Amino acid sequence: MAYSRPCKKCGETFQPTGKLSWVCENCKKIISKELHDKRRATNKKKTEGYKVEYFANKQKLDEIRDNVTIQKWKILSRNYKLGKRIWGVKFTREKLAEDLDLPYATALRCLSLDRCNERNWELYKQGKISSFKLAMICSLKNYEFQDKIVDIVIKDEISTSQIKELNVDNIKDMNVVRHELAIAKGYSRENSAYSNFKIWINRGERFMKMNPCALPKDKIEDIKLELKKLKKDIKEYVEIM
Ligand SMILES: [Zn+2]
Repeated sequence: MAYSRPCKKCGETFQPTGKLSWVCENCKKIISKELHDKRRATNKKKTEGYKVEYFANKQKLDEIRDNVTIQKWKILSRNYKLGKRIWGVKFTREKLAEDLDLPYATALRCLSLDRCNERNWELYKQGKISSFKLAMICSLKNYEFQDKIVDIVIKDEISTSQIKELNVDNIKDMNVVRHELAIAKGYSRENSAYSNFKIWINRGERFMKMNPCALPKDKIEDIKLELKKLKKDIKEYVEIM
């Protein structure tokens, strides 16, 4: 007669196979599944934390960029005036960038804040737009539309890289570009809604294949209730589609 003992977890009598097995084969599986899920949940939580940090860092970088733009502009603007006084018309923005060891494009962009009007400086001071974006807008050729572009950038939340696309020489074309940017944004939003929906469905399908025994006994009723409610919600959602 093989040696048997009660399982420490479920109490049922079983025949231990290994030296130290205090729990039955079935409970062993449940325990290892619980450990696995716990580890997964911890990892997921960590990843969420990383995500928060990742996007917060973008904000930090934006603040640095904002300060740097203003500081560079103050120095460049002052030195451009000094250079003109010293060397007259011979003095150019290229020369200024070279003397200050700055890339020409950066120098031009920062210097363009000299062309920013009172109204838009006020919007900057109110925190409605960053100096980095403002400099970008002021460096566009069509600076007679400065107010219009500033309004579009604030209202449509246009990114720095997209500002260049608004560099057209009339309001009509600007509205066309604006429309295209809105479509591109809507399109990526739609696609992300779709793919997230798919991920949720696939994950749910995988859960449906799971043996309900793997769930803690005292939680089964709760899940049952939630699933029933979900079934009703899904039915209603499908009907309005
Ligand atoms: Zn057991």
